Amino acid sequence: MNYNKKSVEDIDVAGKRVLCRCDFNVPTKDGKITSDKRIVAALPTIQYLVKHGARVILCSHMGKPKNGPDPAFSLQVVAERLSELLGQPVKMAKDVVGESAQSLAASLKDGEVMLLENTRFEKGETKNDPELSKKLASMADIFVNDAFGTAHRAHASTAGVVQYAGLPAVCGYLIQKEISVMGKALADPERPFVAILGGAKVSDKLNVIANLLTKVDTLIIGGGMAYTFLAAKGYSVGKSLLDSEKIDYCREMMATAEKNGVKLLLPVDTTVADHFPDPIDGAIDVKVVDSDKIPDDMEGLDIGPKTMALYADAAKTAKTVVWNGPMGVFENPTLAKGTIAVAQALADSDAISIVGGGDSAAACEQLGFADRITHISTGGGASLEFLEGKELPGIACLMDR
Ligand code: AMP
Repeated sequence: MNYNKKSVEDIDVAGKRVLCRCDFNVPTKDGKITSDKRIVAALPTIQYLVKHGARVILCSHMGKPKNGPDPAFSLQVVAERLSELLGQPVKMAKDVVGESAQSLAASLKDGEVMLLENTRFEKGETKNDPELSKKLASMADIFVNDAFGTAHRAHASTAGVVQYAGLPAVCGYLIQKEISVMGKALADPERPFVAILGGAKVSDKLNVIANLLTKVDTLIIGGGMAYTFLAAKGYSVGKSLLDSEKIDYCREMMATAEKNGVKLLLPVDTTVADHFPDPIDGAIDVKVVDSDKIPDDMEGLDIGPKTMALYADAAKTAKTVVWNGPMGVFENPTLAKGTIAVAQALADSDAISIVGGGDSAAACEQLGFADRITHISTGGGASLEFLEGKELPGIACLMDR
């Protein structure tokens, strides 16, 4: 995939009606926004468009409304908060492509901003329906995609408006940063290039492992998925999470690593307990054992201290490091040590450090390390597909530079 895409700065937006797909999928409770982080993150692109005299038509989904319009999922709260942050009114449409949206869009003046209702109020959104795509596109002259979190989905508002209606399309600043940092890491990384993968299951990351083995110098595996690799080495893993159908796959991957000259690091020690914590953040008795000595009645729930040092060392000596997935059951303070050690190593490293979204991003933010990481991706699923080397429809549809 070509990651070198035109951005808002490469197209004349003055006086143009610009449909800008944002990620306003903010958490809410009792009708109030509990974190406006995503709205704040969208500001640079919106402010650029306003400053350059575009007529800005914003759109986004929020949550998963199942049966059409539902006040509980209305973007009205977003319009209000955005308007405070922008210091100018944000006109709220009552629908996505209906009369209200169309007439507001037609009446917009240069530098004015409006927001369409939740795109998922339209059934055709997630089906990438050509008719809905055309209706959305009919309100605009240009499409700007700035929602990385949904860029791996071909929906009407993420790709259909280009596929079916041919709107000229560019990226906003958020997507531009995602593709320039991650795209460069994958296409032309500064070496040594180290990837750290964790999380629950090997089967969720099969393609990520295979793709990264063609790119990195060192691949580090932690989290629940490590036990299937340890089993593939012939170790007994007790009651640890095991994807028994994927043991052969892990063996194949170990052989590929050797063939490609990639160092594959697995946990040398592991923190075990006799049961999974219940509740997940409840008190738990643990001990540390070497990875080839996991007792039959014990379950591996985090990497051990020797492994933490080994992984931290690899991260610190890297020039590029990509991390996705926790090293253990990090929801529990006793079992979060491995994940914290990796986050700390990335923060301390001088490398270009990239954290895939989801749990690892949240861990870096909670620990206060976010400003010491080069790039924390705003999309969990999207960043995984990116690491798989897949083409993301919301990015592929944008104009190449
Ligand atoms: P994922 O969604 O694949 O990134 O996995 C995240 C989940 O993996 C978290 O909820 C962790 O609690 C879980 N996890 C990490 N390590 C282990 C482990 N050793 N055993 C069981 N679950 C784990």
